[in-house]
Amino acid sequence: MGLVGGVEAGGTKFVCIIASGPDDIRREIELPTTDPAETIGRVIAFFQPQIRREGLNAIGVASFGPLDLDKNSPTFGWITTTPKAGWANTNLPGRLSEALGVPAAVDTDVNASALAEQRWGAAQGRDPVVYLTVGTGIGAGGVYEGQLMHGLIHPEAGHMRIPHDREVDPFPGCCPFHRDCFEGLASGPAIARRWGKEPESLDADHPAWELEAHYIALGIANLICCLSPRAIILGGGVMRHEGLIQRVHEEVPKILGGYIHSMQLLAHIDRYIVSPGLGKRSGVLGAVALARDLSAGQSVPPYSGSSRI
Ligand code: ZN
Repeated sequence: MGLVGGVEAGGTKFVCIIASGPDDIRREIELPTTDPAETIGRVIAFFQPQIRREGLNAIGVASFGPLDLDKNSPTFGWITTTPKAGWANTNLPGRLSEALGVPAAVDTDVNASALAEQRWGAAQGRDPVVYLTVGTGIGAGGVYEGQLMHGLIHPEAGHMRIPHDREVDPFPGCCPFHRDCFEGLASGPAIARRWGKEPESLDADHPAWELEAHYIALGIANLICCLSPRAIILGGGVMRHEGLIQRVHEEVPKILGGYIHSMQLLAHIDRYIVSPGLGKRSGVLGAVALARDLSAGQSVPPYSGSSRI
C-alpha cells in the first residue's frame, strides 16, 4: 500500500529504494556516484520495471546540494553550484520524472532526513526538529511547524561561522569558500587534514575528539539559539565514532552557559541531541516521505512525468 520510489543522491553513492515506510522496504540498491548520465541512467534502469509492477505513483529525491528550491524559479529542483565534477546545473528530479512517467518531489538530503526522523524515527511528535549531519560535509535541515525549512534557498548551516582559537587549533580550515567555517573546521576532511590521519583511524583518546566535540557543540549551540528546536538529530559518518555524541552532550550546556532554561537541555540532553532512529536510512526514507506526501496531495508536484522539462 502506498509504495513509492525514493532516491538518496549523495556525493559518493546513490541509494534507491522501493518502500512505503521503514517497516515496508521491498527493494533497495546502492550505486556509486559517477557522472550524471551514467548514474541517472542506472537509477532509471532500477525503477523502470517496477513502476507498473509495484504500482509506484511518485518518486522522491533527497539530494546533495546546493539545490534551487524556489518554486517560482525556472531551475527549481536543480543541483546548482556544486563543485562535484559534472553535476552542476543537473535537473535530477526532472529527468527521473520524465523518464519514469511519474511526478517527482525533491528536497535536500538533510531536510528529507529531518522529515523521516520526525515521522518515523528519533524525533516523533516533536517540532521544530533539526537534522545535523557531520561527515564528508556538514549540513543541517529541519522541520519547522510542519514545514521543511526553505527560504532564499535552504539552510546552509555547515557554512556558519564559529569561534576559531588559532592558538589552540592552528589548522586554517579547509572550506574552499570560507576556510574556517563550521564545515572547514569540523568535517571529516578537516579532521583528516588537521591530524594527517583519517578520522576512523584516530584512537578514542586522541585529542582530535575533544576538539571535534567542541566545534560540533558550538554549531549546535548556534542552531539552538537561532531555531529553538525541540530535538536535534545528529547523524553522518563522523558521528559514528564511539563516544563522540556523549562528548557533545557534555559540551553543549557549557557553551550555552546556563542561559537557555529548558529541562530538556538541562536534565535530558541525551534525549534532546540524539542519534538517527533510522540509522543510515534517514535520507532515503526521507525521499520516500517526500514522495508519499506528493502522491497524497500534501505538496504541489514540481515535476509531472507528462510535461517537457
Ligand atoms: Zn564554508
